[in-house]
Amino acid sequence: MHLPCRPADSNKSTFGSVLNIAGSVHFRGAAYLSTVSALRVGAGYATLAAIPPVIDAVAAKLSEAIFLPLPQDGATISRDAVFTLSSQIKSGTICSFGCGISALQNASVNLSETTDELLNIFIQKRTPLVLDADGLNLLAKSPISFRFGNRCVMTPHPMELARLLHTDVEQIQKNRLDAAREASKKYEAIVLLKGHRTVIALGEHGEINETGNSALAKAGSGDCLTGVIAGLLAQKMEPFDAAVLGAHIHGLAGEMASKDFSEYGVLASDLPSYIARIIRDLK
Ligand code: AMP
Ligand code: MG
Repeated sequence: MHLPCRPADSNKSTFGSVLNIAGSVHFRGAAYLSTVSALRVGAGYATLAAIPPVIDAVAAKLSEAIFLPLPQDGATISRDAVFTLSSQIKSGTICSFGCGISALQNASVNLSETTDELLNIFIQKRTPLVLDADGLNLLAKSPISFRFGNRCVMTPHPMELARLLHTDVEQIQKNRLDAAREASKKYEAIVLLKGHRTVIALGEHGEINETGNSALAKAGSGDCLTGVIAGLLAQKMEPFDAAVLGAHIHGLAGEMASKDFSEYGVLASDLPSYIARIIRDLK
């Protein structure tokens, strides 16, 4: 699998734009990690759409992002956010949705409705999408049967996939590839099932990722993966290829980081700079 090319005659528009809808009062770091990872993998622009306290926290750490403030309801985004976002989601924009948006903490009806409306917009506008974390948990609760036309990369860990397939983690782990295939067919999406030996499925087709180690088993690591895949999509990779290459790069970054910090000591915030070093070595 090759990295997207970087033509000499290029500018930031050449490398695409990610609109990352992420973060809540409880999980501000998730918004930072997903946004910075999209830039580290080569996206031309990354816009963080988030509530003001999340934007304030991320802006203090990340000078390169663009910020789109969203209306707030308690700890997370309000239903009015849909209006703000719908005008920003254009064809060609790559969206990522769900990192740290805090659905389970709030169990908010409003957030479920907001999510349904947003998912409809992503589908109508045919926007390539990465759907992670509470974006997946809200999809699992939705009464609507969403089908994403294979433009969406869903990135569940086993518990999130169990919720989506209305089963338990034990069943998922018994046959990880078949579980990912089942969800892929159900949602017409690329399904990347996380964990030791991440699997990536598109319909019957499946691949197993061999990279990564226990350094990645720490909070925030999955948010980096979301950003990596969104950043590759922004550079016009096909969704399945972006998921496969993203998992490969993310795993190698964990391995390289653990040479410096040990598998115990790596932080998710170490990963973005190692992602850049891995890309340097892959080229
Ligand atoms: P999340 O659970 O969303 O934070 O995502 C964790 C990320 O780390 C995923 O990309 C997993 O595949 C990866 N990961 C977690 N534990 C391991 C492990 N033991 N070996 C390899 N990768 C792991
Ligand atoms: Mg996660």
